[in-house]
This record gives sequence, C-alpha cells and structure tokens, in this order.
Amino acid sequence: MTTNTMPVREDEQLKLKDQVAIITGSGRGIGRSIAEAFLRAGAKVVISDINQDTCNQTAKELKDQGGETLGVVCDVTKSESVDALVAAVTKEWGRIDILVNNAGITRDNLIMRMGDDEWQAVIDTNLTSAFKVSKAVLKVMSKQRSGRIINIASTTGVHGNFGQVNYAAAKSGLIGLTKTVALEYASRNITCNAVAPGFIDTDMTKKLKEEIINGILSRVPLGRMGTPDDIANAVLFFAGPGAYVTGQVLEVNGGLYT
Ligand code: NAP
Repeated sequence: MTTNTMPVREDEQLKLKDQVAIITGSGRGIGRSIAEAFLRAGAKVVISDINQDTCNQTAKELKDQGGETLGVVCDVTKSESVDALVAAVTKEWGRIDILVNNAGITRDNLIMRMGDDEWQAVIDTNLTSAFKVSKAVLKVMSKQRSGRIINIASTTGVHGNFGQVNYAAAKSGLIGLTKTVALEYASRNITCNAVAPGFIDTDMTKKLKEEIINGILSRVPLGRMGTPDDIANAVLFFAGPGAYVTGQVLEVNGGLYT
C-alpha cells in the first residue's frame, strides 16, 4: 500500500525547541491555539492575558498536558503591566525569542455613530499595545541579536470593512508598525511580520448576527470559516528559525479579499 504522507523529521517537529515565546491575549481564541502550536514545536510559552481566570487556567491546562508554560496576567494597554510581563519572563527563563502581539478587541459601529470611547479602546488595545510590548521586548531581543515578532493584524486592516473604522485603522497601523520594525531591526537579526486573518471561528465572531455571518461566508471562496489552527500554522512559519522573510503581511482568509 502507498501513502502520500511524508514522514516528519524530529527536528521539524521541534523547530522551536527551548525558544521562549510570549503570546498576548492567549487565554482563549487564536492566541491559545498559537500557544498550543508553539508547545507542540518544543517552545516554552508565556500565556499572557488581561483575564486572570482564563490566563491561569490555560497556562495550567497546557502545563498538565506536558508543556512548559508560564501564566502572566497583563493588560497590554498599560505600560507598567507590560514592563512587569517582560520582567517576569526574563526572571523565569532569561530570554525572549518570539513575541506574538495577538490581544485584540472589537467595538463595531458606523463612523457617524461611533463614540470617542469606542475609537480609543480599539486603537489602545489593537495598536498602541503592539508599540508598548514590542518596544519592551526589543530591548531583550537586541541584546540577544535574534528574535521574531509576529503581529496579528486583519484582512480588515488591508481592505477596510463596514462598521469597523476603528478596527481597520488600528490593524492598518499595525501593518505599518510591522514594516517599520522590520527595517529598524533587520541588522540585529530580528524579523517582524504580520498575519492578517480573515473570518475566524472564535468568540470574537460568534457575537455577530447569523445573517452577517452567512453574508460573509457566501463571499469566502474556500467556503468555510477559518479556524484558530489555520492562523497558528501561519504564525509558526514566521516564528521558525529559518524564515528569510521580514516586513511581510500574510493574509490567511480562505480567499476573502474584498
Ligand atoms: P478573542 O477570542 O476575543 O480573544 C482575544 C483575547 O485577547 C481574549 O483572551 C481577551 O481577554 C484578550 N484581551 C483583550 N484585551 C486585552 C488586553 N488589554 N490585554 C491583554 N489581553 C487582552 O479574539 P480572537 O478572535 O482570538 O482574536 C485574536 C486576534 O486575532 C485579535 O487581535 C483579533 O483582532 C485578530 N483577528 C481575529 C479575527 C477573527 O475572525 N476572530 C479576524 C481577524 C483578526 P478577555 O477574555 O478578557 O476578553
């Protein structure tokens, strides 16, 4: 009998062996799936989230499954909280090899109905946070002369979307941040790339009305919502030691470009 499955070499399975990775907003959703993929690849993973319960619970569950995890509660909009996160990780593991800026929120509204508070909350959580966490982590990566930063943007940041002017502006800004950090830190062997998910099955999209979900799905050429694992696979590529790629934005969206 023949099989199409190529055997996976052990060094490919463990391509992040002993690398220390911080994933913000990893108590649930896409962040948690990225954490699971990194642990399978041999990394030590910092589960970090604003929500103390999901943060500690996820860190414990993944540790019980045999992963090396550290749970650190962190609100990425607060500089003191970000500094405390980086201090806790370097105290525990002495280095930071990978940062995934994943924490994010939505506060959807048409521009004419959008309040200043909805605008500011999304800019703070989805954009300014990446500036704060990246800046703090780059100090550590610079000394190591190596590092990988992956920002979770969105198809909305590339193409725009009705009712998401705040989110589109934040994610677009995140793409600009990605390209600039890539230029400023390439000489120190630090790459910075973005993954831009399309329509992914998490709590963030579960709160949409059924007719909106069906409307978006009808425009997805691959005919299904993405899964958090689809995003984790793309992040894993950018996190790997061999990725000769920086300043890139990879849309993982089942072909949904408009
Ligand atoms: P999610 O299920 O809502 O999870 C987001 C996580 O971020 C939650 O654990 C949340 O904590 C945490 N968080 C929120 N504010 C935070 C803060 N200030 N500091 C630290 N953590 C914070 O969302 P998701 O769908 O997994 O999204 C993850 C990323 O993918 C986001 O950047 C999102 O914009 C992006 N994305 C998602 C989709 C999609 O279709 N789902 C599409 C494109 C891009 P709480 O539990 O307290 O809320």
